[in-house]
Amino acid sequence: MSEYEKICFLCRRPESVAGKMIELPQKMYVCADCMQKSMDAMNNMPFDYNQFMNNPGMPVMGFGDMDMENEIPKAQKIKKRKPEEERVPILDLKDIPAPHKIKAKLDEYVVGQEHAKKAMSVAVYNHYKRVAADNADEIEIEKSNMLMIGPTGSGKTHLVKTLAKILDVPLAITDATSLTEAGYIGDDIESVVSKLLAAADNDIDKAEQGIIFIDEIDKIAKKKNSSQRDVSGESVQQGMLKLLEGSDVEVPVGATSKNAMVPLVTINTKNILFICGGAFPDLEQIIKTRLSKNTSIGFGADLKDKFDHDKDILQKVTTEDLRNFGMIPEFLGRLPIVFSLKGLDEDMMVEILRTPKNAILKQYQKLLALDEVKLDFEEEALHAIARKAMKKDTGARALRAIIEEFMLDIMFEIPKDDNIGQVTITEAYIEGSGGPLIQLRGQSVPRIEQK
Ligand code: ADP
Repeated sequence: MSEYEKICFLCRRPESVAGKMIELPQKMYVCADCMQKSMDAMNNMPFDYNQFMNNPGMPVMGFGDMDMENEIPKAQKIKKRKPEEERVPILDLKDIPAPHKIKAKLDEYVVGQEHAKKAMSVAVYNHYKRVAADNADEIEIEKSNMLMIGPTGSGKTHLVKTLAKILDVPLAITDATSLTEAGYIGDDIESVVSKLLAAADNDIDKAEQGIIFIDEIDKIAKKKNSSQRDVSGESVQQGMLKLLEGSDVEVPVGATSKNAMVPLVTINTKNILFICGGAFPDLEQIIKTRLSKNTSIGFGADLKDKFDHDKDILQKVTTEDLRNFGMIPEFLGRLPIVFSLKGLDEDMMVEILRTPKNAILKQYQKLLALDEVKLDFEEEALHAIARKAMKKDTGARALRAIIEEFMLDIMFEIPKDDNIGQVTITEAYIEGSGGPLIQLRGQSVPRIEQK
């Protein structure tokens, strides 16, 4: 005989109060009152035994009229895969645009960076050709993952976004700084694939042919002189190896780390194109040191500061330099295409303002055209904006901020007066020493607006 009282599992009253208990499996006891109530409730509703066993204290509910489909969050719903034989490759070998066509499209949106655009077009073309070709014969074409080096705001993200748009493939952009080895605070490495899956509307087949862009890759360089475990540096590089190479990975759906609450799916990364990008500060110094070491002895010796004024020094990067920077050899080995982007100069900035298909100036011109006002910029005004942006050292990103600042007044004032037909932005207006030129409808001589 147990020295403890039996207690009703539902109402929690002991046997001495509630009366004789009815014994259920797994040593559960229910008093007669509760049993009666449960029976009554069950008579009125469809009974779900599992629900009752898991949650006996709760009123027993029926789910017959509930739509369970809608109970799963949308982000975690996974599209059903087609059977292997029904899968049609998303890209057809004949449909992949040739490198020169890809580059021509990139030209419409990206100013300058000729070498980068060329290298990228060829790499992407080869990559998707490899995806579309079946590997029936022995020769397996290597993956064309890329490493892109370039200062901030030089158009790395812009290039990748444009590329994904041209090819119409899903794209996921992540930041390497948020990644840590699994189990530590931060996002698991596989979360980059989760993002791609989300970008492909949880369609696994589409995701498996997408592009993953990992920005700030220089931030996961090996920490120098560190005796601690490097969970967000070298370990992340190690963890990414199998992703880059191509393997089956189990990724959480609709979450950044695996836990009991999220469904997992298996994705093969063999055909996913990985593009890594980073600013790699100090890399220039590493390259210079290597170059001057090579040429400082003997008859061919160069002057020590020969490379100090070389603007294209980043183009001379080798894997050895990147290894010195702190990238591990195995990681670099899986990114066979390495190229760099140039820092933007004043002329390129001016071009970025006006030439791309969705250039900022064109956007403002369109906005004002809706009010039937013509917007013009003096050549010198554009250079003044570019000079201001250069000072901020954030590349082309500064342009929009600067333009928005002074266009605010224009966008506010112009719609006030229906007679205004044309506005010309002058250098003086940008420099803060004058106003824009305003021309009224039907008037030939512009009037200078005072600031
Ligand atoms: P990052 O190299 O830091 O990734 P981004 O690609 O984000 O730089 O560039 C910031 C913005 O500057 C982009 O949204 C794009 O509009 C503009 N931009 C930068 N470089 C170029 C370029 N070469 N051609 C056209 N636009 C550019």
